[in-house]
Amino acid sequence: MTQLSPPVPQPSPAAAHVEALLASYPDFPQPGILFRDLNPVFADAVAFRAIVDDLADQHRGQFDAVAGIEARGFLLAAAVGYAAQAAVLAVRKGGKLPGTVLTEEYDLEYGSARLELEVGQLPAGTRVLILDDVLATGGTIAATTRLIERAGYTLTGVGVVLELTELRGRERLGASAVHAIKSI
Ligand code: AMP
Repeated sequence: MTQLSPPVPQPSPAAAHVEALLASYPDFPQPGILFRDLNPVFADAVAFRAIVDDLADQHRGQFDAVAGIEARGFLLAAAVGYAAQAAVLAVRKGGKLPGTVLTEEYDLEYGSARLELEVGQLPAGTRVLILDDVLATGGTIAATTRLIERAGYTLTGVGVVLELTELRGRERLGASAVHAIKSI
């Protein structure tokens, strides 16, 4: 009898595009960091559409707004917001937003930073999907989850294009439903 080998899991179309186009730069922006550049994915029209559709589809029907983290998260949030007819929230670096803002300090893989969100943009309980390009140590997204919760919104989940698994950011995000198009 012929022995059948188990099926090899195939990457999703979006994951295949990321795999093909992702560029890596050792020692950028400082020694010891392997910088993963997703700009070639954004610069390919077919790949960009595939990642936007993938992010919108993973949580379809479960969110009313997307929160994009400055700066590359903005590219994703604008496109996913349009595709899913959802509102868009901008989570900005410290000092750029007017009026009453919520602030969270956090540590980066390199350095530390501050993120902010304007209050009162959407009703309490609005279901929010957080989007960013890369999940590294998870500090950036963890700070964003705190902003979303402090603003009174309901966190639906987190979507990223690329997860750097050895930095174990997912563990830091606790019970949040994290969808990564590609994990390396
Ligand atoms: P973290 O807070 O460590 O999860 O870092 C996430 C943010 O920093 C993301 O918005 C990424 O854009 C950026 N980032 C951190 N590490 C890297 C890396 N190795 N390659 C590319 N971007 C990174």
